[in-house]
Amino acid sequence: MRKTNYFFTALLLILSISLNAQIKYLHCGQLIDCTDNSVKKEMTVIVDGKMIVEVQKGYADAPKSASTIDLKNKTVMPGLMDMHVHIEGEISPKRYEENFRMNNADKALRATQYAERTLMAGFTTVRDLGGSGVNVSLRNAINKGWVKGPRIFTAEKALATTGGHADPTNGVRDDLKGDPGPKEGVVNSKEDAWKAVRQRYKNGADCIKITATGGVLSVAASGQNPQFNAEELAEIIKAANDYGFHVAAHAHGKEGMKRAVIAGVTSIEHGTFMDEEVMELMKKHGTYYVPTISAGKSVAEKAAVPGYFPKVVALKAAAIGPQIQDTFAKAYKGGVKIAFGTDSGVSPHGDNAKEFIYMTEAGMPVLEAIHSATVTTAALLKKSDVLGTIQKGKYADIIAVDDNPVDNIETMLHVRFVMKEGEVFKHEQ
Ligand SMILES: [Zn+2]
Repeated sequence: MRKTNYFFTALLLILSISLNAQIKYLHCGQLIDCTDNSVKKEMTVIVDGKMIVEVQKGYADAPKSASTIDLKNKTVMPGLMDMHVHIEGEISPKRYEENFRMNNADKALRATQYAERTLMAGFTTVRDLGGSGVNVSLRNAINKGWVKGPRIFTAEKALATTGGHADPTNGVRDDLKGDPGPKEGVVNSKEDAWKAVRQRYKNGADCIKITATGGVLSVAASGQNPQFNAEELAEIIKAANDYGFHVAAHAHGKEGMKRAVIAGVTSIEHGTFMDEEVMELMKKHGTYYVPTISAGKSVAEKAAVPGYFPKVVALKAAAIGPQIQDTFAKAYKGGVKIAFGTDSGVSPHGDNAKEFIYMTEAGMPVLEAIHSATVTTAALLKKSDVLGTIQKGKYADIIAVDDNPVDNIETMLHVRFVMKEGEVFKHEQ
């Protein structure tokens, strides 16, 4: 009898400790909560389970049952969000032969390390803008806690036209080319547009990615020609609306960009040859710009390495890569809404925060750059109710760096603390 009592007392104790350990008091030396344009000093953020339940001035004492996390010598901010990654792969001279050698299971297992690197770099949410489709399984595995990684919103497989930037058989030997259609993400008519979007829905995508113009890394001549007609674009948008998907448009050239903005896409990715006319159109339609300066820098650098890319790709990389940072500077000055995105995969996963260096170099103030990776990205995803700021009622996605980034932007490259949905994944002193 007595033994049973001890047993139950012990059980209750363990239960109450583990329940209360869910409550965490974060003592933040400096706090960029992204609710306004300030850096607050000596604040406490209280987390219960997955959510932020309170933000208080001063260092509040935690009750005995809760735990305290000391971030007094850190600057704390919301988890960062990258609106353009390709989590399944990473740039390499072997990129073009990998498709013939790797099974999807290989890609998925390799991607787990990219996902973990991304999370450890402070990026708690990413939008994956296209891969083979195993990005859907990766998203699910992360949500189930099988794999460490950021919250993923995925486009599954990007949509292209025949020979377009995301046609999966570009540059392939004739007898292996086949004739991919909407199931594989290749659209050549209004009907194909509906089938391609519906297939993404069936496959578990969260959003739609289209390649509105040519691109750098595909084995094709043009990096900027328009690749969808206005009718096809309009049907893709209509179908996407029916399924609650927003549409992201890869675009380097002006004509394809204009068509995509007029059709009603949510974001323009890269936007390399954007001019004032396009910027005005984007402002009129409320289109976001996702710059991916990191991708431009990465391909320009690799284009200079002999044999790294096939020649047709190297020529485009050298022409397009160096332009993007200038375009970003003009778009920022021009008042276009800017949502943070890197195209990681084209640059190494885990280096996402370098984009902050490039953005501030090009004239964007530090706090605005951080807001573009938190508040603005949450708005783009229509998730402002739960993401993007440190406030009561939001997911406890919280990171910390050593210095105030306003004084030292390089500190963003060394994230010391990462919490996602209340769980601590990294805590270095
Ligand atoms: Zn991309």
